[in-house]
Amino acid sequence: MKVRLYEIFTSIEGEGILYGTKTLFVRLAGCPFKCFYCDTKEALPMTSGKEYQIDEAKKLIENNLAKNTYKVNFTGGDPLAQSEAVSELAKFVQQKKIPTYLESSCFDSVRFAQVLPYFDFIKIEFKTIDSGFVDEAHYSKLLENELQCLRLAIDSGKTTYIKIVISSKTKIEQFKQLLKNIFDITSKSKVAGFIIQPTYGISEPELTQLLDFYDAVYSYYAEVRIVPQLHKFIGAP
Ligand code: SF4
Repeated sequence: MKVRLYEIFTSIEGEGILYGTKTLFVRLAGCPFKCFYCDTKEALPMTSGKEYQIDEAKKLIENNLAKNTYKVNFTGGDPLAQSEAVSELAKFVQQKKIPTYLESSCFDSVRFAQVLPYFDFIKIEFKTIDSGFVDEAHYSKLLENELQCLRLAIDSGKTTYIKIVISSKTKIEQFKQLLKNIFDITSKSKVAGFIIQPTYGISEPELTQLLDFYDAVYSYYAEVRIVPQLHKFIGAP
């Protein structure tokens, strides 16, 4: 088995409920989508980065595990684009008793189900229609997959949180419909957090807009947080 990695590095989590924590990042190459705010565009082609035999990649991860490595984040690109290899690598990390964290757009619930056993922390990202992730004709299929991933993650008992990126283009009514879809299938006690992440450097939302989105989530989930990408402010990768 082979895997294509774009990069591997130690830094701090700049997003989500684990922001500020030290982490080894394994960035997989490849994502078949194109969000307009994507900040890892160079890692989107399946030909980006470098190809490794799976054992070489395990060695690379092992060499990058410092004494104080508290978790390993598999990100991308989208890790589900190479789900088989990601399962192998995450299992390898778990065997070392180091927690694993999956960051994915959840575009394929079948692949998600395959990798889920090897992850301890799960981010379920819901894309808004304005993200450009898919065109409107394919949005309902994407949403179906994302909701199924949420169901699977919650049923597995893994620490699961929800993230939604908001830009100045995001429509509040579409966002409210998305919230209804999410909280129709889960209760607030089952998710470990709800993060609204404003876009950075492109179509940034105004504070008043963000507060409206906050209020919309608050009616379902009072622990909602608006968290910008912390790493961008301190120049971390
Ligand atoms: S899903 Fe993630 S990696 Fe893929 S285009 Fe969107 S932001 Fe970029």
